[in-house]
Amino acid sequence: MLLYKEDIFLVFMYHSSRREMKMGEQGLLIVLSGPSGVGKGTVRKHLFEHYNNDFDFSISMTTREKREGEVEGVDYFFRTNEQFEEYIKEGKLLEYANYVGNYYGTPIDYVRETMNRGKDVFLEIEVQGALKVKKRMPEGIFIFLSPPDLDELKQRIENRGTDAPEVINQRMEKAREELGLIKYYDYVVENDSVDAAARKIRSIIESEHLKVERNIERYTEIIEEMK
Ligand code: 5GP
Repeated sequence: MLLYKEDIFLVFMYHSSRREMKMGEQGLLIVLSGPSGVGKGTVRKHLFEHYNNDFDFSISMTTREKREGEVEGVDYFFRTNEQFEEYIKEGKLLEYANYVGNYYGTPIDYVRETMNRGKDVFLEIEVQGALKVKKRMPEGIFIFLSPPDLDELKQRIENRGTDAPEVINQRMEKAREELGLIKYYDYVVENDSVDAAARKIRSIIESEHLKVERNIERYTEIIEEMK
């Protein structure tokens, strides 16, 4: 069967609209990571508030004290050490890390269910955890948010005013180590401006959706039907 350009376009449009409804497609796993204090939380919130996104945020579990203004089930699921360790034992975490004296972890069910619904899931976690996720789910998209420089990072942590001096030093030491792990990531985004960083992350996700490997099945079907 010989098709003209217009016909090819129409066949494509038909398949594109059908694709919206197609079940069983996996959503993407997007992991935003980087040193503490670099502004992951701020960039993530900006991304969710200012851009029309089609992905869900995975709320982490932690044993650290709730900070002023934080809300249970919105910022974190706040749990005791015993409760957290029970989760570890039962294999209910995709990853977890002990970070500056507290546990932080990603509940696995939410991640799996969201991806199985065909929706992208967004994790905002520290570097050790991100590397563990990479081992288990290498198909994820790993984005490193970097500080413009280490002095600025220290300034940001101090300005936050939530940590004691020795904790600030621990966080800085950790940040230095973490910068050395950047090579395991797919993308690096410098956080010199919150909006620019959020926009870049948004573009990364859009581009990932356009990769040929994620669309090849659809085109194979189109080509088959054109025969
Ligand atoms: P904060 O105490 O400042 O909220 O978080 C400390 C660090 O833990 C941050 O770098 C934050 O991104 C990270 N974090 C938050 N949730 C998780 C998680 O589920 N797993 C891991 N590995 N790190 C997390």
